[in-house]
Amino acid sequence: MTEPRFKRILLKLSGEVLMGEGGLAIDPAVTSRVAGEIKDARDAGYELCVVVGGGNIFRGLSAAAKGIERATADYMGMLATVMNALAVQNALEQIGVETRVQSAIPMASVCEPFIRRRAERHLEKGRVVIFAAGVGSPFFTTDSGAALRAAEMKCDALFKGTSVDGVYDADPKKVATAKRYATVSYDKVLSDNLKVMDASAVALCRDNNIPIVVFNIREHHNLATILAGGGVSTIVQK
Ligand code: UDP
Repeated sequence: MTEPRFKRILLKLSGEVLMGEGGLAIDPAVTSRVAGEIKDARDAGYELCVVVGGGNIFRGLSAAAKGIERATADYMGMLATVMNALAVQNALEQIGVETRVQSAIPMASVCEPFIRRRAERHLEKGRVVIFAAGVGSPFFTTDSGAALRAAEMKCDALFKGTSVDGVYDADPKKVATAKRYATVSYDKVLSDNLKVMDASAVALCRDNNIPIVVFNIREHHNLATILAGGGVSTIVQK
């Protein structure tokens, strides 16, 4: 049997992934489904770090456009990611997956602070570690937080869970002939401004040689299938 390509992965979930049809920012049923995907992958023997965004609740940039000072708005956005992290932790623990939340902004009564060596220990014990509050500084995003934690935690790949099955040369919802890339280089993503993650996050992955796997998290059992070498995705790599 061949060795699996990835052993430890970082899963980046946008806040929107937790939203339901009815406009609920955090839909418990949807969050449970996402937790099930994480459990499948953990049960298959993979080590999982998770970074959650906050866009379903609060985005610094949009709030700044409406008059809130940008840095303050970004701190509010980071707090939103902590709420999402707790929701994912709750959903995982309801299905028997041990987890720890670590925040880049220390919040002693709510969760652990980010401590790399402690996170490492949690992973060794089979726990899922959820990283909240991005990089902990305004003017960044959780995509950058995901790339940074993936590098620090020596993850073999960054899995970006979205509502499409990969990266296309045009918007597949608007252009019928749009083609999905099976693989695409970091440089092409950056030069063609393909919508994968922020440019700074893509550059950080490129500089640390961390492949980015873009896949549809809404499809049942997809994460475990792709980890096992099947399914449909786009891999951004050298
Ligand atoms: N944010 C920040 N620094 C970080 C991570 C996030 O200031 O390191 C703020 C920023 O305002 C952002 C918000 O938190 O808009 C929510 O994160 P993001 O937009 O990345 O969430 P996603 O789009 O993944 O749901």
